[in-house]
Amino acid sequence: MTIQEFRTTASDLPDAVVNGRLFINGVWREASDGGTTAIINPATGEVAATVAASTTSDADAAVAAAKAAFEDGRWSGLSGRERSRILNKAAQLIRERAEELALTESTDVGKPITFARAVDVATAADQYEYVAALAQQLDGSVRETPLHAHAFTRREPLGVVVAITPFNFPLILSSTKIAAALAAGNSVVHKPAGDTPLSALLMAGILADAGVPAGVFNVVTGSGGTLGDHLVAHPDVSKVAFTGSTDVGRKVAALAGQNLRPVTAELGGNAANILFADADLDKAIGTVIGAFVFNSGQFCMGGPRLLVERPVYETVLGILKDAVAGVPVGDPTNPGTVVGPMASRKQLDKVSSYVEAAKAAGGEIIVGGGPLDLDGGFYYQPTVIAGLGNDAAAVQEEIFGPVLTVQPFDTEEEAIALANSTEYGLASGVQTSNISRAHRVSSKLDAGIVWVNSWALLDPAVPFGGVKNSGWGREYGPEALESYTRTKSVIIATD
Ligand code: NAP
Repeated sequence: MTIQEFRTTASDLPDAVVNGRLFINGVWREASDGGTTAIINPATGEVAATVAASTTSDADAAVAAAKAAFEDGRWSGLSGRERSRILNKAAQLIRERAEELALTESTDVGKPITFARAVDVATAADQYEYVAALAQQLDGSVRETPLHAHAFTRREPLGVVVAITPFNFPLILSSTKIAAALAAGNSVVHKPAGDTPLSALLMAGILADAGVPAGVFNVVTGSGGTLGDHLVAHPDVSKVAFTGSTDVGRKVAALAGQNLRPVTAELGGNAANILFADADLDKAIGTVIGAFVFNSGQFCMGGPRLLVERPVYETVLGILKDAVAGVPVGDPTNPGTVVGPMASRKQLDKVSSYVEAAKAAGGEIIVGGGPLDLDGGFYYQPTVIAGLGNDAAAVQEEIFGPVLTVQPFDTEEEAIALANSTEYGLASGVQTSNISRAHRVSSKLDAGIVWVNSWALLDPAVPFGGVKNSGWGREYGPEALESYTRTKSVIIATD
């Protein structure tokens, strides 16, 4: 399949996703009541695909298949090295089917095709490869003890993992959970976001082709309201791996808590990017723009709040005005596009209402400030707003769009206080040429990850996750695999 530049129609999509069905116990099937949902291409507002709308009995069937697969050991009973071979094969197939995956992700979410290839697909393959290596190292340890006994620990998989993911990075975020859960020997039931489920269907086929046995990986598409609670509260589920908004994350954690099931919760963000006057301004401005426009600002780790040291405040606003106006916005299938549409009409409306409220609160629109009428798609202009108080909704809340608020500061302490002043703590950034300041400030930022003179450098080997209301737990790195295993102690008497 080749990508037709500048225009995608439903007929360009792989067959598996055009009429998406559920993948349960290795079999593609309709929803039990035959229900379907239309998936909209956000670049045109047209229907791109139709997927099954799972019922709770479909969810039960998926959990039952995953449980049976776990218990008979067809995956959990393999050695780490055998699982590793299959996960490496999955990484290879992701690379071989990169164009299919990239086009699907771009059509589903509105991602510029260039980034869908270079970021989303490439990262997914890297994740499978990284955890494939870790699968071979899930060792326990021997413990010295005065007991007359040989004491050691084993790291064992948990059982059935439910993976629930949001709309903005479907392929990456599902791979993060699924690859780690599978590497540790668990079975998985995956519920992708209702608006963007298509790449999950492709991945079901890829994992089966790689050799993951039937029942070990299952996909149920449909609404979180119907399926989410049901899956989270299911008594046969051993862990919930959730990424999404803070509000839904709270509900998921509370519900899983009733069954005393562990949850990893990767939630909302509203990161501050602190730009000191001593930074390399040309480089820093590029970083600032990338941090707020990437993925149309639908990026939990984006940098929507810019804090600028006062001596360079007016200069920075002037540069941003011209540079942001020049960011290429448009059809995501055009390889030159940097900003595509919002993923849905709902997201577009949400961004518009925040910007209108910011204008009403006295915000000065430096550039942008409204939707863009293009091809019937859900486009919003990259927007920079100055002059807002720190308590404005656009500063404190997660807009999740290509919108940057800019605030001046006078001292390092003030910058840190402003950066830490929201309920979130997912990411933060410091742009400075002073190495001592970089260490000092990054140590004081309430965030799971801090980027210095950069933004969004991510790697499967480096853990990420939130503090405060941005969530619990860490993904990526060996830390992620820890959360998909439990430690069992075995003590064998020697006398
Ligand atoms: P969302 O509304 O919280 O939905 C996330 C997932 O939860 C979707 O699959 C959704 O299904 C499902 N869901 C909805 N209600 C549920 C319920 N009662 N029980 C269980 N599951 C339920 O989030 P979103 O709007 O898709 O994504 C944006 C949010 O995700 C932002 O806040 C962003 O910051 C956050 N995010 C965080 C990270 C991170 O790593 N920390 C990464 C990416 C995104 P439906 O889609 O069918 O409603």
